[in-house]
Parts: sequence; C-alpha cells; structure tokens
Amino acid sequence: MSSPTTPPSAPTPFHDFGLDPRLADALAPLGFEAPTPIQLEAIPALLVGRDVIGRARTGSGKTAAFGLPLLERVKAGGGPIRALVLTPTRELALQVTDALRSFAKNLPVRLVTVYGGAAYGPQLRALEAGVPVVVGTPGRVLDLVDRGKLDLSALEMLVLDEADEMLRMGFFEDVQRVLEASPPTRQIALFSASMPEPIARVAEAHLREPIEVQVEREALTVHHIEQRALLVPERHKGEALTRLLAAEPIGAALVFARTRAGCAAAADDLAARGVPVDALHGDLNQAARERVLSRFRSGRLRVVVATDVAARGIDVEHVTHVINYDLPTDAEGYVHRIGRTGRAGRAGVAISLVTPAEVRRVRALERTLDTVIAKVEVPTDAEIAAAKRARLLDEVRAAASEAPAPALEAMLDALAIDPRRAAAAALGLLARDRDVALDETPDTRPPSWARRAAPAHPSADEVELFLPIGRTRGVRPGDLVGALANELEVPGSSIGRVTIVAGASFVRVTPEVAERALGRVLEIRGHRVAITRSRRPEGADAPRGPGPGRRGPRPRPAAPARPKKRFDRNK
Ligand code: AMP
Repeated sequence: MSSPTTPPSAPTPFHDFGLDPRLADALAPLGFEAPTPIQLEAIPALLVGRDVIGRARTGSGKTAAFGLPLLERVKAGGGPIRALVLTPTRELALQVTDALRSFAKNLPVRLVTVYGGAAYGPQLRALEAGVPVVVGTPGRVLDLVDRGKLDLSALEMLVLDEADEMLRMGFFEDVQRVLEASPPTRQIALFSASMPEPIARVAEAHLREPIEVQVEREALTVHHIEQRALLVPERHKGEALTRLLAAEPIGAALVFARTRAGCAAAADDLAARGVPVDALHGDLNQAARERVLSRFRSGRLRVVVATDVAARGIDVEHVTHVINYDLPTDAEGYVHRIGRTGRAGRAGVAISLVTPAEVRRVRALERTLDTVIAKVEVPTDAEIAAAKRARLLDEVRAAASEAPAPALEAMLDALAIDPRRAAAAALGLLARDRDVALDETPDTRPPSWARRAAPAHPSADEVELFLPIGRTRGVRPGDLVGALANELEVPGSSIGRVTIVAGASFVRVTPEVAERALGRVLEIRGHRVAITRSRRPEGADAPRGPGPGRRGPRPRPAAPARPKKRFDRNK
C-alpha cells in the first residue's frame, strides 16, 4: 500500500523495469515520466547484478540510473552496510543522498552521508545505529574504514560516481583502497564522463565483464540551445554582463567564471552595478551554498555566478540563460556548462563573453561541436529600454488576466475618463516609478565602448556629481556608470568623464541627468552612497594644467575651492 501522501500512481515506464512499486511510484511526483537513455540501459543491467560502466555526466539522469537498482537491492531495513556510493565532493554526496531519499520516500531504508570537514559525531552515531546505504567522499570513507567504524565486509554494491573527477582531484588511491577493502563479489557501477587511462585500468582490474553504457553523443549536443558570442575587451566584461542581464528576458541566469577569485570578483562587480546576485564557489560553507541555491531555485534570486566545480550538481530546471563570463577551457566544458539551460524541452540561451584574443577559440568550438555561435554586440541603451518596456507590459498583461478588484472598478468609474486614456496614464505612472524610459532612447552603447575624448573640465552643459566613495573602496569607472545607468535609468551616452580619487568619485553628466541624480542614493560596491553636486574647482582633475587638446571655455575662478594639496599634513 502507498503512504497517504502518495496515491498509487498510474504505471509509468519505470514500473516496467520490475522495480518495487514503492520505488516506481515515487518517481512520477518527481516529474520522472520516462527513463533517460542512460537509465534505459543501466537500470536493467544493474538489476540483474551486472557491473556497469556508465559514460555519463550530471544532467543525464545517472543518479537514478544507479540509485534505483541500489535501492531495489537494499530496500529493507538497517545495517550492515550493503551499498556505498563514492563521490568526488561533499556537495555531490549531499545531492546524491537527497536524490536517493526522494526515490526511497516510501521505503524504510536509512542512508547516511559522510564527508570530510564535518564533525565525526553525527556520522559515527548514524553508522553505529546501522545504515545499509552510505554516500561519501573517498577520504572520509577510508578514514572511517581505518578507524574500524565503517565495515565494508558485507558490501553488495559499490558506486563510483564521477570517477574522472575523483581522479582529477587526487582521490584515486583512496578509491582503490576502498575497492580492496570490500569483498570481490560486490557489484560495481562506475560512472564517469571520460575514461582516462588510470580509470580504465581500475575498471579492468575490478569490474567483472562490465556492460558499457554510453549516453549517445546526441544527448550531449547543444543544437537545441541558442548560442551567442559577445566580443568584449576583458576590462568591459562587467559592463557587458550588466547590459545583457538588463536586455535579455532572463528567468534564471547561471554565469560561469573560471576561478574562485574571478567568480567572487564578477559577482561583486555585478552587485556594485545594482544587479542582485550571489556567488557559488568552493570557499562557501554548505549552509551558505544551500541558501544561495534555494533562493535561485525558488526564483527569488535570478543571477548566480559560479565556478565549474561549485556548479556541479546545480540542478535548477528553469535556467533560461547560461553566460560564460570566461570561456571554458575546452569543448566538453562548454557543452557541460551550457547544457544547464534548455533542460526538459525548454528553450535555452547561452552567451559567451569573448575577448578579441579568444575569437579563434570560438571558431574552434563551432567546428568541434558542429554548431553556430552567433556573433553579437553588447545591447544598446535603446535595446535595454525596449526590454524594460516589454517586461513592464508582460507584468501588466499578467495582472490583467485576472478580474480587477472591485475597488479598482470603482476607481475607474470615479475617474470618468476614456479607459484608454486612463490606462495610458496609469502605464506612464508605472513606467516612471520603475524608471522605464518612454522617450526615444538613443541607440548607443556605453561610452567606454567608443572611447570619446572627454574635455578636461565640465562644459557649460555638464554638471559634475560628487560621490563620497573612491579608489580605497575599489571603485572603478564601470561601477559608477553602471550604478547610474541601471538605478537611475540614465542612458550611458549622457554620462561623461569619470574621475576617481582615493576617497571620492566625480562624474560629469548632462543637466537633465543631474536633476534626476542629485539627492539620490546609489549602491556602489556594496555601499549606499548619496549623490551631491561636486564643489571642487572645475578642471581640478586636469593632470597638468590645460593640455593642447582642451576645448570649451576656460575654467572660471573656482567656487568654494578646496586646496588641491595639503601642505600642512605633518605640521
Ligand atoms: P542527474 O544526472 O542524476 O544529476 O539528473 C539530472 C536531473 O534530471 C535531476 O534533476 C533529476 O531529477 C532529473 N531526472 C533524472 N531522470 C529523470 C527522468 N527519467 N525524467 C525526468 N527527470 C529526470
């Protein structure tokens, strides 16, 4: 009988494997309707006790491919340890445990996760209580074996998940020792995306007539994902990304950076430009990582910047955009990253930020993957404004699909004007409130893209803004331009020269922009900063007096001048 929370489900193809109905019934509520290719091949083989080599990576459904036969075998009761899953990282260990628990929710089977860096106490207590299924990282598993706390003598099934990663991370000796500490009769399922020599040797030595199961190349292709490459100098990547995020219809965006430091820097940069974002990298503890993931999954956080390793196992179905802030090192990495979008038949977009030196690598990717990566330019101000208008209209459309509240009907009646006029006025107010530009926005890109020769002092039609945050807080011109452009909807073209000194920044803007900006508070590099009018002498940042290229009027005698240099510092 099924539990009250799980009404008996209609038979799915999973029931055809001959799985215990309590297992098969648990899958439909998880959205599993039909087996993936790797499941189709691996499940029957594992169920009859064969060893299996699965050439598959995250996203292929490999966890259920080994997890369902594993649970079928161990479905009853407590210890001794009958099944062990080794994973390269604690994240993957926890994720595999979660998946197994969700498959086993109608079964009385207990599982424990063991991994390094966590206290021994709870793991030891769980082991002492007797658990038939252990999921863990090789180092900690071996450690517990050596302490006599983890007995593998009754092991029936061993799963090596992401064996190539375990090899890459230097765990393979531990894996070999675990293999030797378990009875030679145990069944082995070895999953690996690639098959480097040392893994092939281990397979040869320990697996008995394994069945090789390879996800067809088709499943790893990227043809269903719209791919673009945006050519951008390294120093403008932050700005380019901010513009992309503003212009694209993003549901959830996963941004990949190559290193931990790069990941944190990219996230900081985006945050400083007013984009709500979080980073996922190896320096985060499990709780912080879980917080980020749960906000990303629920849609409360739209943008996450991650390293390849931290993103392993991020399993969010609605990722609409994958953005390569840095190009991955090879085609396989590229496929793996962009395969995070376009899941389950959904549309997906992958955009790579490509520096001029990397253009050749994009061509190589196109050749290797037999795909087309469209070369695009950074979105213009007009495109961003149009995207914002479209989003506003979407929101209004969604709201209009429900019957209006009686109070709104009454207000409409009270207005007593043409409903079209009323709707237009209401849209206008909403647009103003959301900083959605309604007037013709120039079709320009940020000023830094097309370097302009800025005059050394504000011209008559410029006003200089003062922001009390500067180089000591790591402020860069892009932070200021980005914050103004995004938070105040200031077109990039109306922002002129930016000067950054230790404790302050000065930005020249048109008088119209100044009117909107003065008195406002912007978030820059994580600090809330009020904008006031600069009172420094005009031309104070001109390096050495008027240069030959100077244009415009001579500086007027300074208003409330501040001394340029303080001579009394050591008095
Ligand atoms: P994995 O490769 O095991 O990490 O699985 C990737 C994602 O696909 C996870 O979200 C699984 O829950 C999901 N999944 C696995 N098998 C199926 C299936 N047969 N039908 C639908 N979703 C699946």
